[in-house]
Amino acid sequence: MTKRNPLTDYYNDTYEKQPQAYPGIQSEMKPVPDCGETSYKGNDKLKGKKALVTGGDSGIGRAAAIAYAKEGADVAINYISDEQADAEDVKKVIEEAGQKCILIPGDLRDREFPKKLVEQAYKALEGLDILVLNAGMQQYEYDIQNLAEENLRDTFEVNVFAGVSIVQEALNYLESGSSIIFTSSIQGVKPSQHLVDYAMTKSCNISITISLAAQLGEKGIRVNCVAPGPVWTPLQISGGQPQENIPNFGKNQPLQRAGQPVELADVYVLLASDNASFITGQVYGVTGGSPIN
Ligand code: NAD
Ligand code: MG
Repeated sequence: MTKRNPLTDYYNDTYEKQPQAYPGIQSEMKPVPDCGETSYKGNDKLKGKKALVTGGDSGIGRAAAIAYAKEGADVAINYISDEQADAEDVKKVIEEAGQKCILIPGDLRDREFPKKLVEQAYKALEGLDILVLNAGMQQYEYDIQNLAEENLRDTFEVNVFAGVSIVQEALNYLESGSSIIFTSSIQGVKPSQHLVDYAMTKSCNISITISLAAQLGEKGIRVNCVAPGPVWTPLQISGGQPQENIPNFGKNQPLQRAGQPVELADVYVLLASDNASFITGQVYGVTGGSPIN
Protein backbone atom coordinates (compact mmCIF):
# COMPACT_ATOMS: atom_id res chain seq x y z
CA MET A 1 0.00 0.00 0.00
CA THR A 2 1.34 3.44 -0.90
CA LYS A 3 0.71 6.35 1.43
CA ARG A 4 0.04 9.81 0.08
CA ASN A 5 2.29 12.46 1.61
CA PRO A 6 0.18 15.62 2.04
CA LEU A 7 3.28 17.82 2.08
CA THR A 8 4.85 16.62 -1.16
CA ASP A 9 2.33 14.81 -3.35
CA TYR A 10 0.89 18.05 -4.76
CA TYR A 11 2.65 21.22 -5.92
CA ASN A 12 4.41 22.75 -2.91
CA ASP A 13 6.87 25.20 -4.45
CA THR A 14 6.43 28.96 -4.71
CA TYR A 15 4.26 30.47 -7.47
CA GLU A 16 5.24 33.10 -10.05
CA LYS A 17 3.37 36.39 -9.93
CA GLN A 18 0.89 36.19 -12.82
CA PRO A 19 -1.77 38.89 -12.92
CA GLN A 20 -4.88 38.20 -15.01
CA ALA A 21 -8.08 40.21 -15.46
CA TYR A 22 -11.22 38.97 -13.60
CA PRO A 23 -12.50 36.26 -13.89
CA GLY A 24 -9.17 34.69 -14.95
CA ILE A 25 -8.49 31.82 -17.33
CA GLN A 26 -7.35 28.57 -15.78
CA SER A 27 -5.48 27.23 -18.84
CA GLU A 28 -3.14 30.26 -18.71
CA MET A 29 -2.06 29.67 -15.11
CA LYS A 30 1.43 28.45 -14.22
CA PRO A 31 1.19 25.72 -13.04
CA VAL A 32 -2.29 24.83 -14.33
CA PRO A 33 -4.40 23.79 -11.29
CA ASP A 34 -5.10 20.07 -10.87
CA CYS A 35 -8.88 19.64 -11.09
CA GLY A 36 -8.80 15.86 -11.30
CA GLU A 37 -8.74 15.63 -15.10
CA THR A 38 -6.53 12.55 -14.77
CA SER A 39 -5.93 12.33 -11.02
CA TYR A 40 -9.52 11.77 -9.82
CA LYS A 41 -10.79 8.18 -10.06
CA GLY A 42 -14.54 7.58 -9.83
CA ASN A 43 -16.51 4.68 -8.43
CA ASP A 44 -20.19 5.11 -9.42
CA LYS A 45 -21.04 7.03 -6.22
CA LEU A 46 -23.42 9.37 -8.11
CA LYS A 47 -24.67 7.04 -10.80
CA GLY A 48 -27.64 8.49 -12.70
CA LYS A 49 -27.72 11.80 -10.81
CA LYS A 50 -27.97 15.24 -12.46
CA ALA A 51 -25.93 18.16 -11.16
CA LEU A 52 -25.74 21.90 -11.77
CA VAL A 53 -22.41 23.48 -10.76
CA THR A 54 -21.93 27.25 -10.94
CA GLY A 55 -18.38 28.35 -11.67
CA GLY A 56 -17.79 24.86 -13.07
CA ASP A 57 -15.27 25.93 -15.72
CA SER A 58 -12.29 26.26 -13.40
CA GLY A 59 -10.94 25.79 -9.92
CA ILE A 60 -13.00 24.12 -7.22
CA GLY A 61 -16.23 24.01 -9.26
CA ARG A 62 -14.40 22.34 -12.12
CA ALA A 63 -12.98 19.73 -9.74
CA ALA A 64 -16.49 19.04 -8.39
CA ALA A 65 -17.96 18.85 -11.92
CA ILE A 66 -15.27 16.45 -13.15
CA ALA A 67 -15.51 14.25 -10.05
CA TYR A 68 -19.32 14.14 -10.36
CA ALA A 69 -19.04 12.97 -13.97
CA LYS A 70 -16.44 10.36 -13.06
CA GLU A 71 -18.88 9.16 -10.36
CA GLY A 72 -21.58 8.70 -13.01
CA ALA A 73 -23.53 12.00 -12.96
CA ASP A 74 -24.53 14.22 -15.86
CA VAL A 75 -23.44 17.79 -15.23
CA ALA A 76 -24.45 21.30 -16.32
CA ILE A 77 -21.94 24.06 -15.66
CA ASN A 78 -22.37 27.81 -15.56
CA TYR A 79 -19.58 30.35 -16.10
CA ILE A 80 -19.01 33.78 -17.64
CA SER A 81 -18.81 33.78 -21.46
CA ASP A 82 -15.13 34.96 -21.32
CA GLU A 83 -14.40 31.54 -19.81
CA GLN A 84 -15.75 29.55 -22.77
CA ALA A 85 -12.39 27.86 -23.50
CA ASP A 86 -12.01 26.60 -19.92
CA ALA A 87 -15.63 25.39 -20.01
CA GLU A 88 -15.04 23.48 -23.25
CA ASP A 89 -12.05 21.71 -21.68
CA VAL A 90 -14.33 20.55 -18.84
CA LYS A 91 -16.95 19.34 -21.33
CA LYS A 92 -14.31 17.24 -23.06
CA VAL A 93 -13.19 15.58 -19.80
CA ILE A 94 -16.80 14.91 -18.77
CA GLU A 95 -17.71 13.42 -22.15
CA GLU A 96 -14.61 11.23 -22.05
CA ALA A 97 -15.94 9.94 -18.72
CA GLY A 98 -19.09 8.91 -20.63
CA GLN A 99 -21.42 11.56 -19.17
CA LYS A 100 -23.43 14.45 -20.53
CA CYS A 101 -22.08 17.99 -20.05
CA ILE A 102 -24.29 21.03 -20.65
CA LEU A 103 -22.55 24.39 -21.00
CA ILE A 104 -24.62 27.37 -19.84
CA PRO A 105 -22.71 30.67 -20.01
CA GLY A 106 -24.26 33.66 -18.28
CA ASP A 107 -23.47 36.39 -15.79
CA LEU A 108 -24.89 35.90 -12.29
CA ARG A 109 -24.86 39.68 -11.75
CA ASP A 110 -27.79 39.77 -14.18
CA ARG A 111 -30.84 39.36 -11.91
CA GLU A 112 -32.86 37.68 -14.67
CA PHE A 113 -30.27 34.99 -15.29
CA PRO A 114 -30.51 32.56 -12.30
CA LYS A 115 -34.07 31.51 -13.17
CA LYS A 116 -33.14 30.89 -16.81
CA LEU A 117 -30.03 28.97 -15.74
CA VAL A 118 -31.95 26.51 -13.57
CA GLU A 119 -34.72 26.01 -16.16
CA GLN A 120 -32.18 25.39 -18.90
CA ALA A 121 -30.15 22.96 -16.78
CA TYR A 122 -33.24 21.04 -15.66
CA LYS A 123 -34.56 20.67 -19.21
CA ALA A 124 -31.25 19.70 -20.78
CA LEU A 125 -30.32 17.24 -18.00
CA GLU A 126 -33.90 15.94 -17.79
CA GLY A 127 -33.82 16.32 -14.01
CA LEU A 128 -31.91 17.92 -11.15
CA ASP A 129 -30.61 16.27 -7.95
CA ILE A 130 -27.48 18.20 -6.99
CA LEU A 131 -26.98 21.96 -6.85
CA VAL A 132 -23.48 23.30 -6.23
CA LEU A 133 -23.51 27.05 -5.57
CA ASN A 134 -19.84 27.69 -6.10
CA ALA A 135 -19.43 30.75 -8.38
CA GLY A 136 -17.56 33.43 -6.51
CA MET A 137 -16.09 36.87 -6.91
CA GLN A 138 -13.18 38.12 -4.80
CA GLN A 139 -11.44 41.46 -5.44
CA TYR A 140 -9.11 42.57 -2.67
CA GLU A 141 -9.11 46.13 -1.26
CA TYR A 142 -7.08 47.21 1.78
CA ASP A 143 -8.93 50.49 2.38
CA ILE A 144 -12.67 50.50 2.97
CA GLN A 145 -12.77 54.10 1.71
CA ASN A 146 -11.81 52.75 -1.71
CA LEU A 147 -14.36 49.96 -1.75
CA ALA A 148 -16.49 51.09 -4.67
CA GLU A 149 -20.24 50.60 -4.30
CA GLU A 150 -20.34 48.80 -7.64
CA ASN A 151 -17.74 46.24 -6.53
CA LEU A 152 -19.51 45.74 -3.23
CA ARG A 153 -22.78 45.10 -5.03
CA ASP A 154 -21.18 42.79 -7.61
CA THR A 155 -19.56 40.67 -4.89
CA PHE A 156 -22.89 40.31 -3.09
CA GLU A 157 -24.78 39.63 -6.35
CA VAL A 158 -22.51 36.74 -7.33
CA ASN A 159 -21.68 35.27 -3.91
CA VAL A 160 -25.03 35.72 -2.14
CA PHE A 161 -28.05 36.96 -4.10
CA ALA A 162 -27.59 34.73 -7.15
CA GLY A 163 -27.40 31.69 -4.88
CA VAL A 164 -30.70 32.60 -3.23
CA SER A 165 -32.39 33.05 -6.62
CA ILE A 166 -30.99 29.77 -7.92
CA VAL A 167 -32.27 27.91 -4.85
CA GLN A 168 -35.71 29.56 -5.18
CA GLU A 169 -35.98 28.39 -8.78
CA ALA A 170 -34.46 24.97 -8.16
CA LEU A 171 -36.99 24.17 -5.43
CA ASN A 172 -39.55 23.85 -8.23
CA TYR A 173 -37.61 20.76 -9.32
CA LEU A 174 -35.58 19.30 -6.43
CA GLU A 175 -37.12 16.23 -4.84
CA SER A 176 -36.48 14.36 -1.62
CA GLY A 177 -32.93 12.97 -1.69
CA SER A 178 -31.53 16.04 -3.44
CA SER A 179 -28.49 17.90 -2.16
CA ILE A 180 -27.57 21.59 -2.13
CA ILE A 181 -23.93 22.51 -1.52
CA PHE A 182 -22.65 26.04 -0.94
CA THR A 183 -18.99 27.02 -1.24
CA SER A 184 -18.01 29.34 1.59
CA SER A 185 -14.42 29.97 2.73
CA ILE A 186 -12.16 30.16 5.75
CA GLN A 187 -12.87 33.88 5.20
CA GLY A 188 -16.43 33.26 6.35
CA VAL A 189 -15.18 32.66 9.90
CA LYS A 190 -11.73 34.28 9.90
CA PRO A 191 -11.96 37.44 7.76
CA SER A 192 -8.81 39.11 6.40
CA GLN A 193 -8.38 42.87 6.46
CA HIS A 194 -8.12 43.17 2.66
CA LEU A 195 -11.23 41.06 1.91
CA VAL A 196 -13.95 42.98 3.79
CA ASP A 197 -16.80 42.52 1.29
CA TYR A 198 -15.81 39.01 0.18
CA ALA A 199 -15.50 37.75 3.75
CA MET A 200 -18.95 39.15 4.57
CA THR A 201 -20.48 37.19 1.69
CA LYS A 202 -18.73 34.01 2.79
CA SER A 203 -20.32 34.33 6.25
CA CYS A 204 -23.64 34.57 4.44
CA ASN A 205 -22.93 31.24 2.72
CA ILE A 206 -22.55 29.58 6.12
CA SER A 207 -25.64 31.27 7.52
CA ILE A 208 -27.90 30.19 4.66
CA THR A 209 -26.59 26.63 4.91
CA ILE A 210 -27.85 26.40 8.47
CA SER A 211 -31.19 28.17 8.00
CA LEU A 212 -32.00 26.41 4.73
CA ALA A 213 -31.07 22.97 6.08
CA ALA A 214 -33.59 23.57 8.88
CA GLN A 215 -36.22 24.76 6.40
CA LEU A 216 -35.77 21.96 3.86
CA GLY A 217 -35.25 19.06 6.27
CA GLU A 218 -38.90 18.09 6.15
CA LYS A 219 -38.70 17.85 2.36
CA GLY A 220 -35.71 15.49 2.57
CA ILE A 221 -33.43 17.99 0.84
CA ARG A 222 -30.00 18.27 2.46
CA VAL A 223 -28.00 21.52 2.53
CA ASN A 224 -24.30 21.66 3.35
CA CYS A 225 -21.31 23.87 2.80
CA VAL A 226 -17.62 23.49 2.01
CA ALA A 227 -15.23 26.07 3.45
CA PRO A 228 -11.94 25.94 1.55
CA GLY A 229 -8.66 27.44 2.69
CA PRO A 230 -6.10 28.65 0.15
CA VAL A 231 -6.57 26.79 -3.14
CA TRP A 232 -4.68 27.40 -6.38
CA THR A 233 -7.35 28.80 -8.74
CA PRO A 234 -7.92 31.71 -11.17
CA LEU A 235 -9.88 33.67 -8.54
CA GLN A 236 -6.71 34.31 -6.54
CA ILE A 237 -4.54 35.67 -9.36
CA SER A 238 -7.28 37.75 -11.04
CA GLY A 239 -7.67 40.34 -8.27
CA GLY A 240 -8.45 38.01 -5.37
CA GLN A 241 -5.04 38.69 -3.82
CA PRO A 242 -2.40 41.36 -4.35
CA GLN A 243 0.30 39.84 -6.58
CA GLU A 244 2.85 40.07 -3.75
CA ASN A 245 0.84 37.42 -1.88
CA ILE A 246 1.01 34.96 -4.80
CA PRO A 247 4.56 33.51 -4.48
CA ASN A 248 3.95 32.17 -0.97
CA PHE A 249 0.22 31.63 -1.34
CA GLY A 250 -0.92 28.97 1.14
CA LYS A 251 2.50 28.55 2.78
CA ASN A 252 1.14 29.75 6.15
CA GLN A 253 -1.05 26.66 6.53
CA PRO A 254 0.04 23.73 8.73
CA LEU A 255 0.45 21.70 5.52
CA GLN A 256 2.68 24.52 4.19
CA ARG A 257 1.16 24.87 0.73
CA ALA A 258 -1.97 25.84 -1.16
CA GLY A 259 -4.38 23.04 -2.02
CA GLN A 260 -5.17 21.87 -5.53
CA PRO A 261 -8.88 21.90 -6.47
CA VAL A 262 -8.97 18.10 -6.83
CA GLU A 263 -8.19 17.81 -3.12
CA LEU A 264 -11.69 19.16 -2.39
CA ALA A 265 -13.50 16.88 -4.82
CA ASP A 266 -14.17 14.01 -2.43
CA VAL A 267 -15.99 16.27 0.01
CA TYR A 268 -18.27 17.59 -2.77
CA VAL A 269 -18.88 13.99 -3.86
CA LEU A 270 -19.71 12.81 -0.34
CA LEU A 271 -22.13 15.69 0.33
CA ALA A 272 -23.90 15.07 -3.00
CA SER A 273 -24.12 11.30 -2.57
CA ASP A 274 -26.66 9.06 -0.85
CA ASN A 275 -23.90 8.13 1.61
CA ALA A 276 -24.47 11.54 3.22
CA SER A 277 -28.08 10.69 4.06
CA PHE A 278 -27.76 11.95 7.68
CA ILE A 279 -25.57 14.97 6.91
CA THR A 280 -27.26 18.36 6.62
CA GLY A 281 -26.67 21.88 7.91
CA GLN A 282 -22.91 21.27 8.18
CA VAL A 283 -19.82 23.20 7.17
CA TYR A 284 -16.79 21.19 6.08
CA GLY A 285 -13.38 22.85 6.22
CA VAL A 286 -10.81 21.82 3.62
CA THR A 287 -8.10 24.29 4.51
CA GLY A 288 -4.71 22.64 4.83
CA GLY A 289 -5.01 23.00 8.57
CA SER A 290 -6.62 26.29 9.67
CA PRO A 291 -9.57 25.47 11.94
CA ILE A 292 -12.92 26.74 10.72
CA ASN A 293 -14.59 26.83 14.10
P1 NAD B 1 -12.45 30.13 -9.92
O1 NAD B 1 -12.07 31.44 -10.46
O2 NAD B 1 -11.92 28.94 -10.59
O3 NAD B 1 -14.01 29.95 -9.84
C1 NAD B 1 -14.91 30.99 -9.61
C2 NAD B 1 -15.91 30.95 -10.72
O4 NAD B 1 -16.96 31.85 -10.40
C3 NAD B 1 -15.36 31.42 -12.05
O5 NAD B 1 -14.83 30.36 -12.80
C4 NAD B 1 -16.59 32.01 -12.72
O6 NAD B 1 -17.12 31.12 -13.66
C5 NAD B 1 -17.59 32.18 -11.60
N1 NAD B 1 -18.04 33.56 -11.57
C6 NAD B 1 -17.40 34.63 -11.07
N2 NAD B 1 -18.13 35.75 -11.32
C7 NAD B 1 -19.25 35.34 -11.98
C8 NAD B 1 -20.37 36.02 -12.53
N3 NAD B 1 -20.49 37.35 -12.44
N4 NAD B 1 -21.31 35.28 -13.17
C9 NAD B 1 -21.20 33.95 -13.29
N5 NAD B 1 -20.15 33.26 -12.79
C10 NAD B 1 -19.19 33.95 -12.15
O7 NAD B 1 -12.01 30.14 -8.38
P2 NAD B 1 -12.30 29.16 -7.16
O8 NAD B 1 -11.31 29.55 -6.15
O9 NAD B 1 -12.40 27.77 -7.60
O10 NAD B 1 -13.71 29.67 -6.64
C11 NAD B 1 -14.79 28.81 -6.41
C12 NAD B 1 -15.38 29.12 -5.05
O11 NAD B 1 -14.43 28.78 -4.05
C13 NAD B 1 -15.75 30.57 -4.82
O12 NAD B 1 -17.03 30.65 -4.22
C14 NAD B 1 -14.70 31.04 -3.85
O13 NAD B 1 -15.19 32.07 -3.03
C15 NAD B 1 -14.41 29.79 -3.08
N6 NAD B 1 -13.15 29.76 -2.36
C16 NAD B 1 -11.96 29.74 -3.03
C17 NAD B 1 -10.78 29.72 -2.31
C18 NAD B 1 -9.44 29.70 -2.98
O14 NAD B 1 -8.42 29.84 -2.30
N7 NAD B 1 -9.35 29.55 -4.27
C19 NAD B 1 -10.81 29.71 -0.91
C20 NAD B 1 -12.03 29.72 -0.27
C21 NAD B 1 -13.20 29.74 -1.00
MG1 MG C 1 -13.21 30.34 -14.24
